[in-house]
Amino acid sequence: MVVVMKERASEAEIDAVIARLIDLGMDVHRSSGATRTVLGVVGAQKVDPQLVAILDGVHEVLRITEPYKRASRSFKPDDTVVSLGDVRVGGDEVIVMAGPCSAETDEQTMTTAAAVKRAGAKILRGGAFKPRSSPYSFQGLGEEGLQMLRRAGDAHDLPVVSEVMDVSQIELVGRYADMYQVGARNMQNFTLLRELGHVKKPVLLKRGISATIEEWLLSAEYILAGGNPDVILCERGIRTFETATRNTFDISAIPVVKKLSHLPIVADPSHGAGRRDMVAPMARAAVAAGADGLIIEVHNDPDHALSDGAQSMFPGQFDRLMAELRIIAPAIGRSICLEPTPRRGWAR
Ligand code: PEP
Ligand code: MN
Repeated sequence: MVVVMKERASEAEIDAVIARLIDLGMDVHRSSGATRTVLGVVGAQKVDPQLVAILDGVHEVLRITEPYKRASRSFKPDDTVVSLGDVRVGGDEVIVMAGPCSAETDEQTMTTAAAVKRAGAKILRGGAFKPRSSPYSFQGLGEEGLQMLRRAGDAHDLPVVSEVMDVSQIELVGRYADMYQVGARNMQNFTLLRELGHVKKPVLLKRGISATIEEWLLSAEYILAGGNPDVILCERGIRTFETATRNTFDISAIPVVKKLSHLPIVADPSHGAGRRDMVAPMARAAVAAGADGLIIEVHNDPDHALSDGAQSMFPGQFDRLMAELRIIAPAIGRSICLEPTPRRGWAR
């Protein structure tokens, strides 16, 4: 860190700050300018900058390293690629995960899985444990929902991602899903994150509703520090003063995360926008901004969905979006679903 002393800091104050830092196990390099003294501080120890900021004569303390280690690009310069079977997230190919917000019936899950597979999705999404704002809203089908997702995933050769809300659900969700999803409301459930550090499956870590990028990367650090290297970050919109959309989709988080971390980052334009007519433009923008993938809510009959119907795309809309993404991805040197897929009607 760098400690900038006040212009009028006395020699006694400067000496006291240096003595304190040495006491904390740090090496201090002093440079005295015409008006200010600046102290360069290095050492193996982590020192709380606030402990130094409150000392007499200190103007400002600047941190020069990130508070997270394993999640940072300086720790691992090469991009991390997370594999789910032969699907690789974080490589050249943009991976699209799609499916319903919640698994509701076998027919709904199966029909939706067939539609997203045909359009080029590589992973099936779907919730069985739903974190709803109201305790009176549909809470998900639990194990029954997980079974529906597994059957649909197997029938269409798609790995499954599903949300785990609590430590007590890890074993059950892991029995059916190929990847755990940690929802926005659980981004700082540190007990859950710690436990997911010990599982042998990848974790899709959504950004908290009001979380800074630094807090989000610190949450990823919990999982990585526990020994699980397979973390995929997911930007899903944050809460701001704007009410025109459900959340404010923070597209700038994509290049920021790419700079700070080696972990793959995918984007969730469904929760970001909250309206199905705005999902496609946000999805296109996220791919153009460098997202490694997308997670999109699609429903065979969104008008009758039990959760998030307004933001769930019709299969025809999703089909069209995938065709557009196949044009955008190569423009930034990425590929997306290269296998030829029969084009269907683009109604709705
Ligand atoms: C979801 O993916 O359906 C969900 C509940 O997402 P989030 O945690 O981002 O709100
Ligand atoms: Mn949802």
